[in-house]
Amino acid sequence: MTQTTVAAYASPAPSAPLERTTIPRRALGEHDILIDIKFAGICHSDIHQVNADWGVGTYPMVPGHEIAGVVAEIGTGVTKYAVGDRVGVGCFVDSCRECDNCRAGQEQYCTSGMIGTYNSQGKDGRPTYGGYSTHIVVDENYALRIPEGLGLDVAAPLLCAGITTYSPLAHWQAGPGKKVAIVGLGGLGHMGVKIAHALGAEVTVLSQTLNKREDGLRLGADHYFATSDPATFEQLAGTFDLIVNTVSADLDLNAYLGLLRTDGTLVQVGAPEQPMPVSPFALIGQRKSLAGSMIGGIRETQEMLDFCAEHGIGADIEVIEATAINEAYARVLKSDVRYRFVIDVATI
Ligand code: NAP
Ligand code: ZN
Repeated sequence: MTQTTVAAYASPAPSAPLERTTIPRRALGEHDILIDIKFAGICHSDIHQVNADWGVGTYPMVPGHEIAGVVAEIGTGVTKYAVGDRVGVGCFVDSCRECDNCRAGQEQYCTSGMIGTYNSQGKDGRPTYGGYSTHIVVDENYALRIPEGLGLDVAAPLLCAGITTYSPLAHWQAGPGKKVAIVGLGGLGHMGVKIAHALGAEVTVLSQTLNKREDGLRLGADHYFATSDPATFEQLAGTFDLIVNTVSADLDLNAYLGLLRTDGTLVQVGAPEQPMPVSPFALIGQRKSLAGSMIGGIRETQEMLDFCAEHGIGADIEVIEATAINEAYARVLKSDVRYRFVIDVATI
């Protein structure tokens, strides 16, 4: 395949609504695969980046790093995939491949910086464009196999929301006998609940209100509390081994650190733009840890997909047409999402 032009949805400038456009996709290299994208999830990070919350963005920006589709063409040197295979692409499409982290399969922590699926610069020096588009070309080593039994629509959000919660839950050993809290029941949070439950942990949801309590319990939570009620913080003081904070806005981290037991860890995965103050006393009294975690490497992402398929876990989704992307963004910002919007790419 030579370079092609494909349809996409892009934001032309910071905070501007997304509109239909066309973008180039590179010619198929020796180790590249061409993916016919079927579904693309809408992650809150897409909204942060379109709005340049994390600093400068590159425009036009085609977001989308929860990509599921089917291999349409392969390069001459491709060995891992064949035409017709069901595949996914997550938050990065390349990395240096040489640093300790890349060698260890933790490409997301590449010390030269991973190449993001969008809002980044490819090794050819050109901007990368994400999954809100009909096709993508990606090196076979940065694609994932979507197991049979997982629908492409419910699998798409696993490529970011799934791995971003699976990785810290696995790293901090959520499992039988562990009390785990998930803060925020959105895209990441609902996956965190499902995965922590499947790993055997006792799971508590900490949400702003009790509005989604029934959903939380159905998804696998054992307990559900409203963080708008100050009594929650008294009642649960010193309870959790692990708290995964998926909230996209600032929180009083000191209050949440108070919910950890001795040696407990609060893992920040939500990425609000402002710093959040932490009192030393919230950590030192009971040897508590505050940590962060970012998505997961290719090997771990495949492990997560296989785990989800084995446990019958997909995302709870609302499939939308491409024309509804801007409306979906507004709803995500209002926490009005149950629990991931997924674009039907056939409508682009
Ligand atoms: P989301 O679907 O919007 O979910 C966020 C949830 O946070 C909301 O559903 C809401 O849950 C809660 N929340 C929102 N505003 C709040 C506020 N002002 N105070 C308290 N709670 C609030 O977003 P997402 O796609 O899951 O992403 C969540 C965050 O993770 C974003 O910042 C995103 O950029 C980041 N992220 C990080 C990584 C990583 O690798 N670390 C990967 C992907 C995304 P309730 O209604 O239950 O309270
Ligand atoms: Zn994401």
